[in-house]
Amino acid sequence: MSHPDFRRAAEVIRSADALLIGAGAGMGVDSGLPDFRGTEGFWKAYPAYEKLGLDLGSMANPQWFESDPELAWGFYGHRLGLYRATEPHPGFSLLRDWASRMRHGAFVFTSNVDGHFQKAGFAEERIVEVHGSLHFVQCLGGTCKGVQPAAPYTVDVDLETFRARQPLPRCATCGALVRPNILMFLDPGWEYARSRDQRQRLDRWLEEVRPRRLAIIECGAGKAIPSVRGFCEVKAQAHDATLIRINVREADVPREDDIRLPFKALEALRAIDEELRRA
Ligand SMILES: [Zn+2]
Repeated sequence: MSHPDFRRAAEVIRSADALLIGAGAGMGVDSGLPDFRGTEGFWKAYPAYEKLGLDLGSMANPQWFESDPELAWGFYGHRLGLYRATEPHPGFSLLRDWASRMRHGAFVFTSNVDGHFQKAGFAEERIVEVHGSLHFVQCLGGTCKGVQPAAPYTVDVDLETFRARQPLPRCATCGALVRPNILMFLDPGWEYARSRDQRQRLDRWLEEVRPRRLAIIECGAGKAIPSVRGFCEVKAQAHDATLIRINVREADVPREDDIRLPFKALEALRAIDEELRRA
């Protein structure tokens, strides 16, 4: 696939010393993860919730861990299993490849909670998971602080009802129920320290690379929850960097020099890579 904007994007990447990668839900969809876009998309992935009239907004509520923990862990336990079983698509390694040729490498800023940048080989200390990660849990007992890896837990989910079977994940220290360390809707109880520390590392890196040429590439980050989009726009402005925005439906860019690629993440990353190889 050739397109003048792919060539421009390749030039920006080739001449950069550092790469800031923004990623939203569209990045995961290309690995085969379900598209939660709209209520229809959500119910297609989780038909059991359609019968209950529950959409993503009502499921992603921490209240369920108190009122109906089997329902809550049914949803998140299933997603955890899916994220573990799914391999990140080849676009992740293309990004890693490009960054490996840059003096300052890459930093990732993602709203995805699937842990797929780590799984694709990006260093843990070069990733910000702005909405947390499903691969970590936090205790609901009220006394334990911080987060724990979700690795020891497997959740047995009934695929008819999407309810979790007992035993549910419990805190190794105090025995109370744990919940995923991700930001849900109406969620003042989210333990955000891990995400905050990641963010501080990113801020330090951005200071380090400030005198250098920074390229910003954003993959599949929509307007519905605009944390990633907004962040990339602000940093592009602050660093006088070109923003490469890959978004199949919402590719509009704030500045004339930014690059607008209305494609799916993987196909655009492949096309840019072809241009890079051509040189
Ligand atoms: Zn505990």
